[in-house]
Parts: sequence; structure tokens; C-alpha cells
Amino acid sequence: MDLAALPEALKSRLIKLGLIRPFDLVLHLPLRYEDETHLYPMVDAPMGQPVLVEGTVESCEVQYKPRKQLVARVSDAGGSLNVRLLNFYPSVAKQLAVGKTVRLYGEIRRGFLGDEMVHPKIRAANEQSLNEALTPVYPTTAGLNQLQLAKLIRLALKHCDLRDTLPAGVLEPLSLPDFSSSVRLLHSPTPDIPHSLLTERTHPAWQRLKFDELLAQQLSLRTAHAARRERTAPVIAPEGELAAKLLASLPFALTGAQGKVLKEITHDLILPHPMQRLLQGDVGSGKTIVAALAACQAIEAGYQVALMAPTEILAEQHFNKLSAWFAPLGIKVVWLAGSLGAKAKRLAIEDAALGTAPLVVGTHAIFQASVTFAKLGLAIVDEQHRFGVAQRLALREKGGSPHQLMMSATPIPRTLAMSYYADLDVSVIDELPPGRTPIVTKLVSDARRDEIIQRIAAKVEEGRQVYWVCPLIEESEALQLQTAVDTHQQLTEELEGMVVGLVHGRMKTAEKAEVMAAFLRNEVQVLVATTVIEVGVDVPNASLMVIEHAERMGLSQLHQLRGRVGRGAHASLCVLLYTTPLGELAKSRLRVIYENTDGFEIARQDMEIRGPGELAGVRQSGVPMLRFADLEKDADLLEEARLVAEDLLAHHMPTALLHLDRWLPGREMLLKV
Ligand code: ADP
Ligand code: MG
Repeated sequence: MDLAALPEALKSRLIKLGLIRPFDLVLHLPLRYEDETHLYPMVDAPMGQPVLVEGTVESCEVQYKPRKQLVARVSDAGGSLNVRLLNFYPSVAKQLAVGKTVRLYGEIRRGFLGDEMVHPKIRAANEQSLNEALTPVYPTTAGLNQLQLAKLIRLALKHCDLRDTLPAGVLEPLSLPDFSSSVRLLHSPTPDIPHSLLTERTHPAWQRLKFDELLAQQLSLRTAHAARRERTAPVIAPEGELAAKLLASLPFALTGAQGKVLKEITHDLILPHPMQRLLQGDVGSGKTIVAALAACQAIEAGYQVALMAPTEILAEQHFNKLSAWFAPLGIKVVWLAGSLGAKAKRLAIEDAALGTAPLVVGTHAIFQASVTFAKLGLAIVDEQHRFGVAQRLALREKGGSPHQLMMSATPIPRTLAMSYYADLDVSVIDELPPGRTPIVTKLVSDARRDEIIQRIAAKVEEGRQVYWVCPLIEESEALQLQTAVDTHQQLTEELEGMVVGLVHGRMKTAEKAEVMAAFLRNEVQVLVATTVIEVGVDVPNASLMVIEHAERMGLSQLHQLRGRVGRGAHASLCVLLYTTPLGELAKSRLRVIYENTDGFEIARQDMEIRGPGELAGVRQSGVPMLRFADLEKDADLLEEARLVAEDLLAHHMPTALLHLDRWLPGREMLLKV
């Protein structure tokens, strides 16, 4: 089995999920299961839990009020229910054609017009007999459906070597089941296994996987730490005059929290080992100035600094801000991005290579092989979770072992960060600069969409600007795009005399930048966007944000989005539109975002509700993280893993390496990053 031979589009989606080797598929375990082994009569089907029913379509029509939706009536021998779809492909209407017998999987709820299923899974009934095993539901990404993923995983289970990495002598005293039967069971459990053991991950098969994962983390933590201490980095210990000058030129003073983290960074820079510090701070907490002051230290000591951001929009904002700060101090800031013309790019690359550019700001263009630095002392990476390990590694190859400062607004609770980010030191800015106007958050039912559109008109009349964020549709990127295009059209029609712009992930960088620039200049008053605007955009005049289908988004993501407003002096409002009826989980999650403004608190509660594996950013961090184990709940397993790790490193190195290779194949790379 060779994943490299798969079509490019499919491959890139797998990579997005971190699935690179066939073995990664083996370790891609279900988030939950659906029970399609049992068919319920509609009258007897329990409410509030997903069930499988089968019936004949009596009617099916597209309705337009309060918004476009497809409504079908389906009945079986004893009962009937409504099926409601808010986003749908035209092909669904064929599936739900009158007279067809369909199998529906979903939660039955009491709706306005009787019992209903919203967005059930729909299949033709005669397609297959009932399943024998529970249906796994895997974490996935846009454009990759469950069936495709399950098929690949089945193949991987067949082709991969599933033999145990751990010798019987290690396993037996732990009384854990063997690896092979554990993964097989978790990918396709029989219905007789109590559901709670699977969902709460207490089944012995889960215990085994968690133990293996914790063991790999322990092994890698120990080896990584030792490796970093062996590398040397420039000692950066200037007088601090440049930083003092920059500080004196600012119209504000640092907050206490900024001062504290700056001290931590300055202290790292004078050590002869490469700093690897993660600077965490909520959106708007002022990370940029801290990074700039750290850059001052390196520049004054005669070293170069590189600053990278994940998107061109964001990188350009940094460039503008840093140029404004540094130019008066006589320090040249060089811009390097993919969109730069050939000649300008050559000059920028030359400046970096000759050492004549003290500070280079740009996008991942900086990672390219053609870019080298004469004397790189400090590399700063903004929104670091957006960059992969390979890119961070490329950076290190740009000259020696520079100190690294990574910045992130993705709130990761401290305890979690310390274990997930294994060998990183963490600094937290836990205070916002004074004088911000708090953002008011409102939860509004989608049925009141018209009202919200009027509210937008009123805001624009006051001279303000508005973001409208379209829902994330996991199943289909194309559908997400369509929703954005539809909304853009609707708003353009209804908001007469106002300019409504549109940005989405499929647009070219230059096009996106153009729309953003027009929005910044207030030539566009309402910006319809997919979630591409999540990171870093700064338009202080925007004071209203509407987020559609808020119930589908991650809480940290909602929090980040919300942080795009409330940046100026105007009172700001964030409207979270949701679709009724809301499930219990969705309700409690929206309550969290409604009641809290602190990103860290939101992340903590989100983790409580959903488990850590789901936190945005954690997965992409590239450092050994825990997908399955829970540091608190599995404290006993962790303790055992710690002891076994010690033993393996001391006495069974080949076993330790074998185990690491299975769980953390990029480990050699990680050690260098
Ligand atoms: P983020 O942490 O989200 O990257 P920024 O660094 O972009 O935040 O800072 C947000 C805004 O706050 C910027 O306009 C910045 O100049 C301003 N700012 C930063 N620190 C302070 C401070 N101590 N007092 C007042 N304003 C500040
Ligand atoms: Mg920022």
C-alpha cells in the first residue's frame, strides 16, 4: 500500500489530517460510532439519541421562508416524520423523491411541525442489509467523506505490520491486550460491546492505545530535551539601547504581562542554547510589539531576524507595522513574499544572504531553499500552528541554530501546552491592553435573519463596517463556497447602496488581498467571508460580526473570529446565528462562548466538553501530542508509561526506537526543530 500513489487532491486531504504513512491510517481512530445495526419503527424510536429508521417519502419540497430549505415527509407502517435540510445539493431531492424508500440515521426531535430529523444521513433502503458492526465516525476534513476514509483504513489494516512493539515481558505485568486486536476492535466494534466503554474510551483496547501513545510521548520528551541542550545558539546580550528607543517611541507603555514575557524571552536569548519559546496571547493582547522588542535585542547584537506569518495579508500587516516602528530608528525592514516581482525578490534574497537586511518579514516564501541568511539570530513565527514541522525545520537550515519565538493566539491551556508542546517553553500574555471596548455577544436564531440584515444596514449608516462569516461545511468545500456566494448575492440585493465584498479560500492571494485592502479603506462596507479571515486581520472600523451556523464551529475558532471586531473605539457586537433546534451539546457550547470573553477560559471549557484532541492548533503543532489519552483521567497510565519509558531507554533501546517509529515517525525531524 502506497499513499504516495494516490491522486494529489486526495493525498493533500490526507496530509491535512496528518495521514502520511499507511500506519497513520491504522492510528486514525474513530471519534465516535453510529449504530446502524438496528432498525427502529418510527413510533418507538427513542428521542435525543441517533437512531436508524426506514420509510417511504410522502412529499418533498424546497421552502424559502425563513430561509431556503428542503423539507420531506417520510413514513413507515406506524408513524412518520419530517426531514429538514438547510444546505443541500440538488441531487438530494432525487434521493428524497416521492415514493422512494429511504433509510435515515439521525436524532428525532420535536419540531415546530411535528417530529423531525434535521440533516440525517440518507440512503436508499434497498442498498444494503443492516450492518453487523458499529459504523465508525472518523475525524475528517472538507472533501474527504467517511466512506472513502473507512475504505483506506480497511486497506491499511490489511497491509500494515500490526505486530506488537512491546515484548511480552513489558506487556504482561500491565495486563493490557495486544496491539493488533486492539486497533481492529476500535475500528469496527461489534454491537454487543457496551457503547459507553467505547465513547468514554475506557475499554481495554482504548487503554492499550492510550498507553502506547503516552509511552511514545515520554520517550520523545526525554530524548528531545537532551538533544536541544547539546546544540548551541548565539548568545544575544546587548545593552538594550535599541529596545529602549523603540519603547520610547511608542504611544503606549507595555502592559505588565507584556513586560513579564519580554523578560522571559530576553533571558532565553543570553543562553548558549536555542530558545524555543511559544508566546501565547489572546487576540489583541499585543504579541507583535513583544516580538519587535525581542528583534531589537538580536539586531543590536549584530544578528538578523526573520519574521514569518502564514498568510500574505497577515504578513503585510506585520511588515507595515514593523516598518513604521523601525524606520525612524534607521533599521531597514525587508519584505519577502511569493507575490513579489522577480527583481524585488532577488534584491530581498540578496539582502538576506549578505546580511544587509537586519529584519526580513514575509510569508512562507522565507522557507524556500533559495533564501539564506548571513547571520540569523532569531526566527519569529506568527500563528505557528499554521506552519508544519517541515517548514519550521527548513527555517533552521537557514543558518546555524537560531533562537525561535513562536506566537499563537490559539489558546491552549497551560498544563496542556506543557505536555503537548513537549519541549517548548511557554510564555503567556494574560492581560489585554487598557481601553478596549468589550464585545457584546448575542445568540440569535436563524429565523431572525431578516432582522439581522436590517441591523447591518443601520450599522453601515452609522459609518461602521460589518463581517458576515459563512458556515464551515465539513463535508464539502464546494458547498461551503456556494453558501458564501449565495449569501453574498442575498446581501448585495438587500443592502441597497452598500458595497458587499466576498473573500474565500479558493481565491488567489492577490484577489483576496485586494478585497481586504478595499475593506480596510472602507470602500467595501460588508465583507462576506468563509473562515479564511480567522487569523490576524485588523480593521478597527468593523464593529459588527455575524457568524452563521455558529453551532457548527469550534469554540476557539468562534473566539478568534469574534476578536476581529472590538478593535476600535466603537461598541462592538458579535451575532451568533444558530439553526433550531439545537442539541444539548451545541447549546452548552454556545453558552460557553456567550458567557466568556477570555480565550483561555473558553479553551478550557471547550476541552472539558469535547476533549483535547479537538482543540484547534494542537493537532497541527507538529510536536508529539496526545490524541487519545487524557492527562488527568489517565494519570495511572501516564505513571506506568513513564516507568516503562525509563526502563526502555536504559535497557532496551531498539524497542524504544521501534515504538517511537510507529507512533512518531517524524521524530528525528522533531528533534531538530
Ligand atoms: P495580537 O496579540 O493579536 O497579535 P497585536 O500585537 O496586533 O495583537 O496588538 C493589537 C493592538 O494593540 C495593536 O494595535 C497594538 O499596537 C496595540 N497594543 C499592543 N500593546 C499595547 C499596549 N501595551 N497598550 C496599548 N495598545 C497596545
Ligand atoms: Mg497577531
